[in-house]
Amino acid sequence: MNYLEDYPLSWNHLLEVLPDGVAFVDEHGLIRYANERLTVLTGYTRDELVGQAVEMLVPSRERDAHVVHRGEYARDPSAREMGNDLNLILLCHDGNELAVEVALSPLTLDGKEWVVAMIRDDRARRAAEQVRTEFELHALATAEALSESEQRFRLAFENNVAGMVFADLEDKILAVNDAFCQMVGRTREELLGHDSTPFTYPEDLGISEEANRRVTSGETDQVSYAKRYVHRDGRVTVAEVHRSTARDPEGRTLYFVMSERDITQERALTAQLSHQALHDPLTGLANRVLFEDRLSQAHEKVVRQGGLNAVLLVDLDDFKGVNDTLGHFVGDKLLVAIARRFDQVTRSSDTLCRFGGDEFLYLAEGLTSPAQAEQVAKRLLGALAEPFSIAGAHLAQHASIGVVVCDATSTDYTESIRDADVAMYEAKRERKGHHVLFAPSMREQATSRFALLQELRQALQAGEISMHYQPIVDLATTEVVGFEALMRWQHSERGWVPPDVFIPLAEQSELILELGAFALREAMSAASSWERTGARTGRPYVTVNLSAHQFHDPGLVSIIEGVLRTSGLIPERLIIEITESVTLLDVAETLGVIEHLNHLGIAIALDDFGTGYTSLSYLALLHPKIIKIDRSFVSPPQQSARNDTLLETIVSLGKKLNVTLLAEGIETRAQFERLRLLRCEFGQGYLFSPAVPADEVEALLARLPANWG
Ligand code: C2E
Ligand code: MG
Ligand code: MG
Repeated sequence: MNYLEDYPLSWNHLLEVLPDGVAFVDEHGLIRYANERLTVLTGYTRDELVGQAVEMLVPSRERDAHVVHRGEYARDPSAREMGNDLNLILLCHDGNELAVEVALSPLTLDGKEWVVAMIRDDRARRAAEQVRTEFELHALATAEALSESEQRFRLAFENNVAGMVFADLEDKILAVNDAFCQMVGRTREELLGHDSTPFTYPEDLGISEEANRRVTSGETDQVSYAKRYVHRDGRVTVAEVHRSTARDPEGRTLYFVMSERDITQERALTAQLSHQALHDPLTGLANRVLFEDRLSQAHEKVVRQGGLNAVLLVDLDDFKGVNDTLGHFVGDKLLVAIARRFDQVTRSSDTLCRFGGDEFLYLAEGLTSPAQAEQVAKRLLGALAEPFSIAGAHLAQHASIGVVVCDATSTDYTESIRDADVAMYEAKRERKGHHVLFAPSMREQATSRFALLQELRQALQAGEISMHYQPIVDLATTEVVGFEALMRWQHSERGWVPPDVFIPLAEQSELILELGAFALREAMSAASSWERTGARTGRPYVTVNLSAHQFHDPGLVSIIEGVLRTSGLIPERLIIEITESVTLLDVAETLGVIEHLNHLGIAIALDDFGTGYTSLSYLALLHPKIIKIDRSFVSPPQQSARNDTLLETIVSLGKKLNVTLLAEGIETRAQFERLRLLRCEFGQGYLFSPAVPADEVEALLARLPANWG
């Protein structure tokens, strides 16, 4: 080893970058040198330490013994009364005591016996209950031949508990100490002259290069990072590396100095301890914290090695309905079952995380094209194709996925979760149960749901909310029998915000009660002005949608009674639309409210029939006046014989139960004719008219019934 000959190493520099506190103590027991780390450990400044008796760092109860032991050690270092690996107590400036590990080495200077003490904060080691590795102090070879500074340097280098490496500008190793050789299971001869590639964990290739780039570019003088090595025996060790540069007076980099601490066991213990902190207790999947950590690592890797990552945000469709109708017990079980299905299609290099209630995140690494990210999305959606069987119930659960692909240029990796959210939002808007790839143009339109909720709170006061009315027609005559009141939000900047977006948002808070009361007031007062049309004897009724939260609000009946009084609308012209999820929340309570409403003369319409989980015969118990067949049966994306049979069955069952059937979403003449043949009584849809503002209702009534032939 002739690193001292070729390179103008500075021992001072070296001592300052050591991870251990170092004190040089002379033959009188006075501290003659203290490095930076020792000042950090003890809380004393260098000036306060140098020149003082080393006993200032020993608690008073142990000082006398310390003085005695120090004398014995000076006389005979092999006596080891105060030898290596001692666990001692360090008295700090603030009076606190710190458990430390101390290694001592004798040093002969001008025939006087000095001692070099290397002091290491013991807490991390103790916490990890790490088996202490014995390290042998090498006796100083031929002290006379070396200058004082060389001696000190060599001592600090050779005997350091941490692995020490000197490397040239190409990162080829110039010198290593035993600790490093042991860490990677290689001999000094095998290491000298080579870089660390052969024993670097494959995924960590490039970390050293990136660190080199940072220190040589002058961006910083010292970098710390973790890096994994593969030991000769196959074990993977994790090292915490401090890398710094030594420069000549002109500032040119001369060589690199690395001190490397083996933190494998610490990491393992921390991992174990933090498993709970990093995992979702229900599903056992990674949680948000862990995910973000993986995301940042994955990003760094893409920066180093190229390639693509993708973040997929998976949001279950209408999952709230499961909780609301079947209870949280079933909801939880379903979540666990879904997590398991997702897990089965998760590659080992990828990370699956439960992000929150019904949201999952998936990090796909090492992709080469966006198409591969879409493949992952399809795989996840495919995992939900089969229904789930939970607590005797068959549950179909679908999801919508937002996909964002990130490369090395993605500046802020945390933004990718937000972008995935934006894309997921688009996926839900288009049609549920599929995926959408993020495009930057989406970002402008979408703001966070939180921001939207804040704006929604203002919207009512600002007069941005209104009710529109879609005619309900008698399919036999195309006469208008009533109107469904549908809420509209005309946002000052965003334009129309669809109710599928803002109603679920409002449902998360009390805001839905306010909006619901508004809908009732507006719709009932509008309806009170509608006149009869065509040959019909009655005036058109109005149907108002109520959400579950509203329906179970104890104030509901009295609100309706109040609006009936002020609007002058007769109760028979008001129909309340509820969905299955409303009715199943608490069956007894639901029946009670319905009875109360019926008693007032108000009927119920069951909305979106066919999308829930319950049977028609059960729902008939609720005595709805109308059952609204969901649009997915009326205008399915693909016509199929199975769908036709379903529709036929629903209509005929309804007839047996003496309930009026209404088909939602009639868009074409063919659909209209078919429903008419099936003798479905009422219908609604764009074929007749979309929902129109209140002041256009009159014109609409003049246009319908149309002459359909
Ligand atoms: P919904 O009660 O099932 O309302 C029917 C939806 O179908 C309306 O969407 C309507 O515009 C749309 N539609 C009608 N005919 C057709 C058609 O031919 N084709 C297609 N593709 N769609 C058609 P909208 O207005 O976007 O409302 C969506 C949902 O938002 C409603 O579904 C309802 O669940 C909720 N909603 C709307 N207004 C209110 C309200 O005042 N209160 C509550 N709680 N929910 C509301
Ligand atoms: Mg409705
Ligand atoms: Mg509906």
